[in-house]
Amino acid sequence: MQELNKTLYVVIPCYNEEEVLEETTKRLKEKMGKLIKDKKISNKSKVMYVNDGSKDNTWELIKKINKSEKLFTGITLSRNRGHQNALLAGLMTAKTYADVVISMDADLQDDINAIDEMIDKYNTGCDIVYGVRSSRKKDTWFKKTTAQGFYKFMKFMGVDVVYNHADYRLTSKRVLEEFSNFKEVNLFLRGMFPLVGYSSDVVYYERKERFAGESKYPLKKMLNFAWDGITSFSVRPIRMVLNVGIIIFAVSLLVLLYCLIVKLLGKTVEGWTFVVGSIWLVSGVQMLSIGIIGEYIGKIYSETKARPRFIISENLEEQNAKR
Ligand code: UDP
Ligand code: MG
Repeated sequence: MQELNKTLYVVIPCYNEEEVLEETTKRLKEKMGKLIKDKKISNKSKVMYVNDGSKDNTWELIKKINKSEKLFTGITLSRNRGHQNALLAGLMTAKTYADVVISMDADLQDDINAIDEMIDKYNTGCDIVYGVRSSRKKDTWFKKTTAQGFYKFMKFMGVDVVYNHADYRLTSKRVLEEFSNFKEVNLFLRGMFPLVGYSSDVVYYERKERFAGESKYPLKKMLNFAWDGITSFSVRPIRMVLNVGIIIFAVSLLVLLYCLIVKLLGKTVEGWTFVVGSIWLVSGVQMLSIGIIGEYIGKIYSETKARPRFIISENLEEQNAKR
């Protein structure tokens, strides 16, 4: 069992969030205050806002909040780099000060009451706790359908994601330390954390409405994000090309046979057999070749990402030396 009373940092990326920050600050102050009072977390715990190059007064607001409340701190990025990069910046900064970090969105659509349960799970030895949406009653029909389609499509494309989990999650310091060895540039954090391993659990909560401001994830950004997730995590699209190549090549052999039979029966015009046969055979060979080349590109791709090949969580030799 891990020791109680650890330092918690809550990391929140903010892009043009001046409309929500005050309310968010108020609610989190209450929540964190209670957790500190109940000795669930240490009194060095903080909320860290990450200003993702906002064009409005978000950063001025964060600085103002930081002046009046020592519970709140912040960092700002030199320009807008997108949610995932902002979140990573926050996590990597917070890990130097904290024992455990929770990431969430500025609009508090993810229920902050789930924090208690996350901390409890952490205290019983979980290194990662995923927040999972139990229902989306408050999301619009469109958001709900596209978001759920997203998870299903990801699964189909061979990406291992926790269903209905976004970026509301608790991670321990050692997970973040190991995570810093993932050097890839195209980030899809919710797919990367499961790769770190260690024991994990989920906490269910109900997703709420955005109480102010509007979504910073329009459909176009969401599609880009899904595409990033698939292409960063899976070579299945390449495999599909290869499979189609194999099928077309096989079919082309049958078509050739058919052409020959028709020719032998004398039911064709001059040149037909040659033209049709060539089209099928050449296309089949081409598709197959692209698939094979793709397989190698896929290998190069995963090599260049240079993800850690393994992470050792316990070494008895080290423990023996301490005895
Ligand atoms: N966000 C960010 N940079 C961006 C876009 C969004 O840091 O370029 C932050 C935003 O401030 C919020 C979180 O990402 O804290 C999630 O955005 P939003 O709530 O708009 O997404 P939705 O809940 O609609 O999916
Ligand atoms: Mg939101």
